[in-house]
Amino acid sequence: MSFDIWQQGWCQGAEKCESPNFGLRPPDALIDLLVVHSISLPPGEFGTGAVQQLFTKQLDWEAHPYYQSIRGLEVSSHFFIERAGKVWQFVSCEQRAWHAGVSNYRGRSNCNDDSIGIELEGLEGELFEAAQYESLAQLCLAIGQQYPIAHIAGHEHIAPGRKKDPGSGFDWALLKKIVAWPPQYFPES
Ligand SMILES: [Zn+2]
Repeated sequence: MSFDIWQQGWCQGAEKCESPNFGLRPPDALIDLLVVHSISLPPGEFGTGAVQQLFTKQLDWEAHPYYQSIRGLEVSSHFFIERAGKVWQFVSCEQRAWHAGVSNYRGRSNCNDDSIGIELEGLEGELFEAAQYESLAQLCLAIGQQYPIAHIAGHEHIAPGRKKDPGSGFDWALLKKIVAWPPQYFPES
């Protein structure tokens, strides 16, 4: 899968699934941060399509008891990587997706303004698939060709204490090895 062809912030190697949950970035936003998340709906169940439904405001809140706890939640991410490595895109990288919430990193707050969010299908604290690392790494490199990326961090690093994803099961060393970016791009371990 090639992620090298882009059009107006949309990566052509990803399956496009447009979300209404986005806004404008500040005009002077320097998009230099990638934020890695984990999500699965219901938690721990994979391939249900519910993450895509959540991000496109199509989720039936009555379909599972867990959904009562997130009822009305309006969120999105630029990208979502399924267990087998398939990549979805919901929001153009030119736009501000709603994945970070209250956050602070590299001396700047409100990380949604100037970051790109990538969700991995999974459960925080648990392991991810080799195919997901491969897609994530290729996507990171392709994004790095389009935007001046200088940092990559987990949601847990930009919202410490509030968020725990992707968690201890995410192998930062493996990602570091595949993308071969300088160590200073990565969170301090
Ligand atoms: Zn997250």
